[in-house]
Amino acid sequence: MRDGVIQAHRAWIEEGVVIPASELELKHKTGELISVFSQHLMLNEHTDSPLLFCVDVDLSDQKRAHRDLKFATHFDWLTHLPNRQSFEINLDSLLDACRRRGNGLTTLYLDIDNFVEINDALGYDQGDRLLIGLTRRLKECQRVTELVSRVSSDEFVLAFPGVYLSSDVRRIVRHVQNVFRKPFFLDGRERQVTACLGVALFPENGESSRELIRNADVAKNRAKLEGRGAVCFFQQKLHDELVRQHYLLARLKEALDNDEFSLHYQPQVSAASGRIENLEALIRWEPAEGPTISPAEFITLAEYSGLIHRLGDWVIEEACRQQEEWRSKGFHEHRIDINVSGRQLVGRGALKRFEDALQRHGLAPRDIGIELTENVLIEADETAIEDLRRLYHRGFHIALDDFGTGYSSLSYLKHFPVTALKIDRSFIQDAPTQPKDRAIMEGAILIGHRLGLEVVAEGVENAEQLSLLRDMHCDLIQGFFFFRPMPAEEIDRLLSGFVPTHKGLTS
Ligand code: C2E
Ligand code: MG
Ligand code: MG
Repeated sequence: MRDGVIQAHRAWIEEGVVIPASELELKHKTGELISVFSQHLMLNEHTDSPLLFCVDVDLSDQKRAHRDLKFATHFDWLTHLPNRQSFEINLDSLLDACRRRGNGLTTLYLDIDNFVEINDALGYDQGDRLLIGLTRRLKECQRVTELVSRVSSDEFVLAFPGVYLSSDVRRIVRHVQNVFRKPFFLDGRERQVTACLGVALFPENGESSRELIRNADVAKNRAKLEGRGAVCFFQQKLHDELVRQHYLLARLKEALDNDEFSLHYQPQVSAASGRIENLEALIRWEPAEGPTISPAEFITLAEYSGLIHRLGDWVIEEACRQQEEWRSKGFHEHRIDINVSGRQLVGRGALKRFEDALQRHGLAPRDIGIELTENVLIEADETAIEDLRRLYHRGFHIALDDFGTGYSSLSYLKHFPVTALKIDRSFIQDAPTQPKDRAIMEGAILIGHRLGLEVVAEGVENAEQLSLLRDMHCDLIQGFFFFRPMPAEEIDRLLSGFVPTHKGLTS
């Protein structure tokens, strides 16, 4: 730069052309180029001995900070992969190219199974180690690093342009799955790691990077439900389902605040005498606007979201209030059974609150019973089982609902504190025509009786089913053949004897 600088100095001194301040690179004596902010200053300018000063401020630190910032805004600090934002930009420009050339593209969303447990059990540094090791392997699948991104703690997205024939897509999926074939070396030993994959295809499943990533994520979430190492391809109905669930969940919270729920009661009658013995309380949701929503749909959602605790407490309270009212009207015979979901039993002392509610309403164990599914019992923790055992010994009625559809492990019948079996509707339905269903039904009744349990048949809809059940000495019958679930006022009329008895009762 020497000649240029001398010329500039001369021009300033002789012609008054000021050297402007600027950023430039100078060579350090180590040979390294250094960024500087360079400024010149002239003193005694209009004298015979002007003095020219040059001040160069070393900008290395600022430059480094700038580079780091740029890196941090575009890349993931741990794996050095592009972060979600820059991946989206990369993918969008790639999609433009695909569109121009009429090519397809595959987006893969990868989520490590149980990463939280790895982190908790082995510590964050081992978790980091796994992420770095996995990144290295993923880069072997997709060599273009811009097309691999770590989008959140244990989630990665990969894009494969040009891959859209189903055989190619499957090959790519296998390729990525193979990444987990070999164990990872963590905390001094080899560990097998798995991940779930969601797949979304361009252009069928989305036009933009946002849409493709979101839909691959939706597919990945569905894969998660299927268990470790599962793969799922995006389908529009997955998305629609999710949108509906999201909407319902928001509505469900409002509904609890707005009192949109009620309990209907379905009588269980004695198979021998036709007398109404108990009532099963079944929750109903009639939204202020729109059609009613079935409990099968919203209970699952409430369980998943944790709202089941509030909902379950509401059911307990309402059933107790209703029973107290009926008792005060002189209806002393029937018991109300409420359904208790598995999630309700996790922590939080739902059964304790159940006992408290009974006490508040002046009710005894014979007034309210509970129904649980087998899976609930098998998955319940020891404290929940202890609580149930206490209820059992206090004389509460505890029924095993939907018997035959869950694990149906007979040894559990012996261990769990239950007083009744409810045979699932699916066996009752086909018993008259299907010998195998009939055999299961008969077997369940027999086993139930041998274990000293009361046996209830659910979903009895016709006379043939009833007659079979009577022949097999089933104790109680519940189903549309006798009564549908109905609001409390109708039960009121029924219990007062204002409703004529059903044809089934006299046969
Ligand atoms: P579940 O406890 O097995 O209840 C019996 C279901 O069978 C009820 O459906 C009832 O209306 C229906 N049903 C009864 N008789 C017949 C029949 O003859 N034919 C047919 N086709 N169906 C019959 P619902 O009321 O839609 O409830 C569905 C499920 O939702 C219940 O199955 C229960 O698991 C759950 N559920 C309902 N209310 C509650 C609640 O308050 N809390 C909890 N946790 N779950 C509830
Ligand atoms: Mg039930
Ligand atoms: Mg049932």
